[in-house]
Amino acid sequence: MRIDFLTLFPEMCRTVMDESIIGRAQKRGAVEIYCHQIRDYANNKHNRVDDPPFGGGMGMLLRAEPLALCMDDLINRLGKKPYFIYMSPLGSILTQEKAKMLSQKENIALLCGHYEGIDERIIETYIDEQISIGDYVLTGGELPALVLADAVCRMLPGVLSDNVCFEEESHYNGLLEYPQYTRPAVFREKKVPDVLLSGHHANIRQWRRRQSLHRTAKYRPDLIEKAKQAGILTEEDLAYLSQIADSPEEK
Ligand code: SAM
Repeated sequence: MRIDFLTLFPEMCRTVMDESIIGRAQKRGAVEIYCHQIRDYANNKHNRVDDPPFGGGMGMLLRAEPLALCMDDLINRLGKKPYFIYMSPLGSILTQEKAKMLSQKENIALLCGHYEGIDERIIETYIDEQISIGDYVLTGGELPALVLADAVCRMLPGVLSDNVCFEEESHYNGLLEYPQYTRPAVFREKKVPDVLLSGHHANIRQWRRRQSLHRTAKYRPDLIEKAKQAGILTEEDLAYLSQIADSPEEK
């Protein structure tokens, strides 16, 4: 997969993407990441890319022309239009399911807004989807684009050591992850649950599933309702949920 960032701050995106797991994934060729400077397409003496909005109002907007030239250049380089995403507070909220769907695309290009945003005609002409990372407003689209790219990259083959790494995590299967522990088995008088030290794989699996159900019911009851509606809970899960319905603490 190839991911392109279109931004006024390519170094900010590059620095984050070159670190740790995703940096190593790029070196192994599991993902290609490119960062493009929108200002390079300003075509004026002072490389200005912003202008005040028509009709008045606070702040500046990114002009249509440099954005269009930057996007056209990318389309020419790729020989086809990538899936253009504009990071925007009015987009649909990023979820694990959305990240999984995007990880199946060959090319995604993430347009990062700045100032008060971008000329609407760019959205009408080029953008396939607008995505938000939450109901709050940030100063620019770089952090949202980095969040999206990170969530997408870790689901690509060869990025994590094994698919189990994300398949058992919170949100992948509609539930939150079970609690985890590492050495020492006793830390400040707190002991790891006996079952995890038992070596009995079936019991460990059942304990983890029940913990997932318990935590999800406790912290995100809305997800339990969704999981019920999606039919992804087994008879055993449902029986366990009704058994714990009156018990607020995890066992
Ligand atoms: N005037 C815009 C509005 O009211 O919707 C907000 C513009 S914001 C200050 C500047 C840029 O940050 C946006 O163009 C967008 O790219 C990005 N941005 C801010 N908050 C975001 C969020 N929650 N999700 C995705 N992108 C966001």
